[in-house]
Amino acid sequence: MTAEKKIEQTMEETKMADGNRGLHYEENLLWEKERSDHSGVDMPAPEGLALRTGFAPRGDMGLPQVSEPQALRHFVRMSTWNYSIDHGFFPLGSCTMKHNPRLNEKVARLPGFAALHPLQPESTTQGALALMYELQNWLSEMTGLPGICLSPAAGAHGELAGIMTIQRAHEMKGQKQRRVILTPDSAHGTNPATAAMCGYEVRNISTRENGMLSLAAFKEALYLTDPDGADVAGMMVTNPNTCGLFEKEILPIAAELRKAGGYFYCDGANFNALVGKIRPADFGVDVMHINLHKTFSTPHGGGGPGSGPICVTEELAKYLPVPTVVKNGENYHLETEADRPETMGRLKGYQGQFGMHVRALTYMLSHGGDGLKQVSEDAVLAANYILRALEGDFHAPFAAQGPCMHEALFTDKKQKENGVSTLDMAKALVEHGFHPMTVYFPLVLPGTMLVEPTETESKAAIDHFIDVMKDIAAQARLENAEETFHAFPHSTPRRRLDEVKAARNPVLRWK
Ligand SMILES: *Cc1c(COP(=O)(O)O)cnc(C)c1O
Repeated sequence: MTAEKKIEQTMEETKMADGNRGLHYEENLLWEKERSDHSGVDMPAPEGLALRTGFAPRGDMGLPQVSEPQALRHFVRMSTWNYSIDHGFFPLGSCTMKHNPRLNEKVARLPGFAALHPLQPESTTQGALALMYELQNWLSEMTGLPGICLSPAAGAHGELAGIMTIQRAHEMKGQKQRRVILTPDSAHGTNPATAAMCGYEVRNISTRENGMLSLAAFKEALYLTDPDGADVAGMMVTNPNTCGLFEKEILPIAAELRKAGGYFYCDGANFNALVGKIRPADFGVDVMHINLHKTFSTPHGGGGPGSGPICVTEELAKYLPVPTVVKNGENYHLETEADRPETMGRLKGYQGQFGMHVRALTYMLSHGGDGLKQVSEDAVLAANYILRALEGDFHAPFAAQGPCMHEALFTDKKQKENGVSTLDMAKALVEHGFHPMTVYFPLVLPGTMLVEPTETESKAAIDHFIDVMKDIAAQARLENAEETFHAFPHSTPRRRLDEVKAARNPVLRWK
C-alpha cells in the first residue's frame, strides 16, 4: 500500500460518522433536525406529572424545535464554510480580492449614513448626496469620462446599463440597424451575455497567439457583413484583458471603431491595474463600468452587495439611467426622468448601493490620488513577482512578451504531460489552505490558471503561495503524480464534488 493510500485509509477510518473533523463541523439543514411538539428547551415531562414548565404541548408546528445555542451554532458553523478574504490569500484572477479596510466599515456605519431612508426629503439627505456627487467626481477624474451613474448594482448590471446607454444613443440617432456587438474571445462571459440580453448579435474577434487583439483581426470582424461597419453598434473589450495584458493596439482599434460609428464599451473589472496611471478615455473608451467591489475595496464574494457605476463620454451622458446627482448652486439633487428627458429610464431602485458608495469614497479619500496610483503600481509589481517566480515551474504562455499587468497567467501544459490537470492543482491548493486561483478562464488556452495577488498581500504571504506552488509543481513531476493528485483534497468536509452532475441535475427542492 502506498503511503498516500495508507493516509487516506486512516482518514476514512477516523472520520466520525457525522463528518466532523479538525474543528470543522458538518451542519445539517435546520429542516433535518428533529421536529417536536415541544419548544427546543422543554424537557420531556416526568411520567405521571404535568409539564415542569407548565406549558402545554403546542402540537407539531411543522418546524424543528431548537434551543438558542443550537440555532446560533447552526448559523455560525455555516458562516465558517464561506471562505473569505478575511480568512486568507484569495488569488482569484479577474476578481481583485483585495483587503477591505475596516475604516470603510466604520464610516459606512456612521448613523447619518446608515440610518438614512431613501424616501427622506432631499433637504434632509444633502450630506449623502454630496458624498455621491464627490464619488462621481473621483470616478470621472480617474476615467476621464464626465457622465457618471452610480446606480448599477454590480459589474454585470453596469454592463447592462452601459450597453443600454449605447443602444439608446443609436436609437436617438436613427441608427437602429446597428445590431452587432463585437467581443474578443478573451472576454468575460458577462460581456457576450449582456449584448445578447440587449438583443444584439454577438460577433467574436479572435485574438492572436500573443493573447492580444490586432487591428487586422478587429477590422475583419468590424467589416464582416457591411463594408462600412454600419451594422456594428459597438465593441466590448476588457483592458487590460483577461490574459493580464494591456491591449497594445487599442488606440488604432478604437479609432477604427469610432470611424465606423460604433461605441467602445470597456469592461472596467481590471481597472486596478490602471488607476492613477492612465485614463480610459485617453485610449478611446466611450462607456465603462467600474467594479467598486473590486478596484475600490468594497466587500464581495459573500461579503456584501456589489456596485457597478458606469462612466460615459459627455455625448452619452444624457442617455444614462436616472438618477445621477447634480449640483444646483449649493444644493444637491437626484435627477428624475423629468430632469433628463432623453434618459433610458431607471434600472435600479432609489440610488443604488449607497453603503458601497460610502465605502468606495472612504477608500479613495484615505489613499488620495498619489496613493491610488501606488495601488495599481504595487498590484502590477506583485503579479509580476509571481510570474517571474513561477515561470520555470509552470507554462506561462505570455511571459516572454514582457511584464504582465495585475494578474499572471499560467497553464497546466507541463503538468498535463504527467496526468495532472489544473483542476487537480486547484484541489491541491485547497489542501494547502489556499483558495485556488481562477481556473479554466480565460478560454483562449486550455487549462488556464489566472493569479491575481492584489497590492494588499504581504511579501510573506506571496512567498508562501509561491513555495506551495513550487511544491505542487515538484509533486506533479513524480511518478505516481496522477494518483496522488486525483485524491486531493483530503481534509475538506466534502472531497470532490461531481460538478458536472451538480450543474446538469441541480436538486433545488428539499425532500
Ligand atoms: C467580475 C467581472 C465582471 C462582472 O462583475 P460582477 O460584479 O461580478 O457582476 C465582468 N467582467 C470581468 C472581466 C470581471 O472580472
